[in-house]
Amino acid sequence: MRTITAKLTSIYRVVALLVLLSSGLISQIYLYRHARNVAHENLTTQAVAMAGNLESALVFGDVAFARQTLQALQHYPDVLMAAVVLADGKYFARYASLGALAEQDELLLDSRQTGYIALHKHGVAETIATQGNTPARLVLVASLEKLNQETLLLLVASTGIGAVILLAALVLFRRMSRSVTAPIEGLTALMRAVERDGTHGQRTDVLSDDEIGELARGFNAMLGALEIHNVHLNKEIGERKRMQDKLDRLVHYDTVTHLPNRRFFNERLKMAVQQSLQLDKIMAVLFVDLDNFKLVNDSFGHDIGDEQLRAVAERLSKALRGSDVVCRLGGDEFAIILENLVDTQQIELILDKMMQSLIRPLRLDGHDLVVTGSVGVAVCPDDADSAEGLLRFADAAMYAAKGSGKNTWRRFDPEMVSRSTLRLTLENQMRAGMAAGQFEVHYQPQIDLPTGEVAGLEALARWNHPERGYISPLQFIPVAEESGLIRPLGEWVLRSACQQMAAWSRGGLTGLKVAVNVSVRQLVHDSFPDEVLAILMETGCTAQQLELEITESALMHDGGKTRTLLERLRQCGIGIAIDDFGTGYSSMAQLKNMPVTKLKIDKSFVDDISTNADDQSITAAMVGLARNLHIQVVAEGVETRAQVTWLRQVGCHNFQGYYFARPLPAAHVPDFIANFEGQQRLTATSAPQPESPPDAVISQWGAWI
Ligand code: C2E
Ligand code: CA
Ligand code: CA
Repeated sequence: MRTITAKLTSIYRVVALLVLLSSGLISQIYLYRHARNVAHENLTTQAVAMAGNLESALVFGDVAFARQTLQALQHYPDVLMAAVVLADGKYFARYASLGALAEQDELLLDSRQTGYIALHKHGVAETIATQGNTPARLVLVASLEKLNQETLLLLVASTGIGAVILLAALVLFRRMSRSVTAPIEGLTALMRAVERDGTHGQRTDVLSDDEIGELARGFNAMLGALEIHNVHLNKEIGERKRMQDKLDRLVHYDTVTHLPNRRFFNERLKMAVQQSLQLDKIMAVLFVDLDNFKLVNDSFGHDIGDEQLRAVAERLSKALRGSDVVCRLGGDEFAIILENLVDTQQIELILDKMMQSLIRPLRLDGHDLVVTGSVGVAVCPDDADSAEGLLRFADAAMYAAKGSGKNTWRRFDPEMVSRSTLRLTLENQMRAGMAAGQFEVHYQPQIDLPTGEVAGLEALARWNHPERGYISPLQFIPVAEESGLIRPLGEWVLRSACQQMAAWSRGGLTGLKVAVNVSVRQLVHDSFPDEVLAILMETGCTAQQLELEITESALMHDGGKTRTLLERLRQCGIGIAIDDFGTGYSSMAQLKNMPVTKLKIDKSFVDDISTNADDQSITAAMVGLARNLHIQVVAEGVETRAQVTWLRQVGCHNFQGYYFARPLPAAHVPDFIANFEGQQRLTATSAPQPESPPDAVISQWGAWI
């Protein structure tokens, strides 16, 4: 790029050269012509003067004088020749300078007529008046050589001086032009810096007060405006980015655990599957569902529940490799993507580590919680080669893990899919079954050993499926709870039990209570007490004949509200039993405030009571507690004589279990009671051998889920 300075210098050079040449040439021509004219005039004057002197010589024919007069011209070296020419063309006298001797005739010939000026010489002819005679003429020819030389010299000298002046002027020009070029250069440099750095903080100096100064000021103002604009823009961009990030977090991350959420998981899983197929690498999806999370949530409230979720999130993340992705799908469900696996054994190692990290006791708000999870595993490409398939299969495998006792993991097996589909079928069939009257209520006696009487009967729902036979409540109650069917089903069981109780009562069976299980899903409805009372009115069963069994976790659910609700029922005379006692996390203080009339010690404590010292002391403590609070105690799931002995030793005298009786169809109950109480009267305190008809619940269980 040619700079402005270079351009200005070129312009200057051309202009200066033109000016110098034209002015020099014109002045030289003028001077030269002037000098030549002066020389010519001088020659003429000389000729006139000489002509005057020569007049007398002509008059007297004095050639010598004439020659002498002409000879005086030798003092004028410019004069080449002089001649007095008579009218007939002959010379009267003549003179030639030394250098011009040879060409004197020629010179004369040139200047004979008039005064002339040639390039190198000039001549004049002056008439010499003579009396009477025809006039002669004096011809002078002088050289212009010297004049020409001087002129040339002057031309060279003046050109030299002109060139020096020109150079000096150029330096001066360049210096002066800096006042114009410097601000422009400054502007250019600034513009380049702005372009290079992309910042608008720089400013140029305003060096002049002219248009360029104005330009610089304008440029600075423009940069200032840009800077402000940029600040706003950056702020806006920053704000937008923050909002975008926030939105992204909200969209892709879970607010409780800060783990990626289901949406993130789905996107990530799709990519992982694609990569696995492209690179021919194994990848796996682990579906983790916490065991008994609902229990913690219901017992301690959502804050502790959230704490537990956070702790699980942290434990899972720590147990896995940095490249593994842990997400929370919702509730107590987590999902993990394991990529780049060498073989499926690697999954087992990861799983072992993960399960172990989960099971460590977790101390939250003064409680030691044991966290476990059930995990389903689906492997790509072995089990499925799509994201949806993997997730669905891992989910099915997780259900299988739950089904096989929780706190374990299961790899997907095609069998499992049909099971989860069955689950849906089950729900639909249940609706149909309820409408078709396939449900029954069986009653399991509760024995009061000291009196030898059947003190109560627990109503247990049974589904008599036309094709499958009896289906266990362990199978259909969870489905009913999930689908909401538990409300109509629970109401139906309650009504049936109350009707049955009233019928037995009318038939002479007195001193009995019927216990009906109530799901937390029924309890959450404010109308529940009214519904219960309405059923009592409708069936003729008295409040004293009814006991509601509520699991420990359901009891603690939404503490205050549940308590008010139960208190109302209690005030009417209805008994309240805590079911599965010992498996929840209710505290003594909470228990004291609850309108409870009975504790049912969970089967898990009874199972090993004859051998396990811990279970013995826990059961003893529970019995002691109940006694303090004036609450009845019943041991559940009593199957052996040894268990009865141990339970009696720790102070528990009421029993429910296969040892005494399985759940019975209503029709068998009066006979059982008559037999049992009759036998008790005969054998005093010894318990009967279990002769009750086998429980109608067949092990269809395994075939279903
Ligand atoms: P649950 O309330 O703890 O009922 C006791 C369960 O233990 C019954 O199982 C009973 O058959 C079983 N059982 C009793 N004695 C023994 C024993 O000595 N050994 C063994 N192994 N088991 C014994 P079932 O009838 O299968 O009921 C399972 C659960 O289903 C019940 O546990 C209860 O939570 C639920 N359930 C049953 N009917 C209803 C209902 O009408 N409404 C609600 N909400 N839940 C119900
Ligand atoms: Ca129960
Ligand atoms: Ca129970």
